[in-house]
Amino acid sequence: PTILAIESSCDETSASVCRDGAILSNHIANQAVHEQYGGVVPELASRAHMQHIVPVVDIALKQAGVTLSDLDAVAFTQAPGLIGSLLVGAQFAKSLALALGKPLLSVHHMQAHVLANLIPEERPAFPFLCLTVSGGHTQIVRADSPTELTVLGETIDDAAGEAFDKSAKLLGLPYPGGPLIDKYAKEGNPKRFAFAEPQIEGLDFSFSGLKTSVLYFLQRERAQDPDFTEKNMADICASLQATIIRILLRKLKRAAQDTGITDLCIAGGVSANSGLRNAFTELGKEQGWRTFIPAFQYCTDNAGMIAITAYHKFLAGDFADLGVSATARSEWS
Ligand code: ATP
Ligand code: MG
Ligand code: FE
Repeated sequence: PTILAIESSCDETSASVCRDGAILSNHIANQAVHEQYGGVVPELASRAHMQHIVPVVDIALKQAGVTLSDLDAVAFTQAPGLIGSLLVGAQFAKSLALALGKPLLSVHHMQAHVLANLIPEERPAFPFLCLTVSGGHTQIVRADSPTELTVLGETIDDAAGEAFDKSAKLLGLPYPGGPLIDKYAKEGNPKRFAFAEPQIEGLDFSFSGLKTSVLYFLQRERAQDPDFTEKNMADICASLQATIIRILLRKLKRAAQDTGITDLCIAGGVSANSGLRNAFTELGKEQGWRTFIPAFQYCTDNAGMIAITAYHKFLAGDFADLGVSATARSEWS
């Protein structure tokens, strides 16, 4: 089947065309409007989605070399995300499906982050485990098939991406700070400073203590030297990033030991982090895992991951009713 997929859960408007599981296009329009506010402003995001959606879909179709009449189904991100943003993609997809007389597929954004790992030809075998690390979520997911995904553990407070972004804010870096911490960390000493590492039972995560620890650390050091942050940016970022990676991989290793699963993936925006990609690959070699990481364009929000998930739902005959609505939060199913 040829499927058009739309992603609009947060501040990226994206459209992708997928044919028989191969991604033919994945166009992403970012929203620069939020930079000046230091975070995503929901009302501005919905408005920008409305401006972008038609041209973005148009570009995705052209890049794939298909027209509307070639489509066999239309897919969209149903949840979770910003409700105003989700609604733009949902209404567009439903209208188009109705107009074309083609079936509709509704996709869970966090499941799609996981299944981004099914895009390349070299892909994990079921069952596999995925560490999903994004702006709003941190989860260890067990995948038994494309439609049977189970959350084994997740954060009880902040997400890994928030740990990066909130720490970056404390360091005076612009939003989103994750990629900047990654950049500075490359030049720094990861062993120079120590930050709090939580002791949480089982496979759950916690990052709020780390953020507080960074705050107190910076307050203490700046009291001695007002220029402390600027002078030590690389070492602070390297130490902070190493701490986040240790917290993440400790639990992933445990999940692999608990389940005996040896095909492991990472996904989500933070899986674009070079330190995490390297440390995950190294740990995999040490543990005898096969490791998989999506290409950069499929780590942060993109419609390609929605398209591949929709493709598997199409094969399973799991279509959505035109009455389906977007929801900000959603049960995992
Ligand atoms: P969710 O998927 O949970 O709804 P989201 O869609 O907003 O959240 P993503 O787009 O998947 O999240 O990821 C965005 C997050 O990824 C941000 O927190 C950003 O800082 C982080 N991020 C992106 N690149 C990097 C990087 N190289 N290093 C660290 N963090 C990064
Ligand atoms: Mg985003
Ligand atoms: Fe996301």
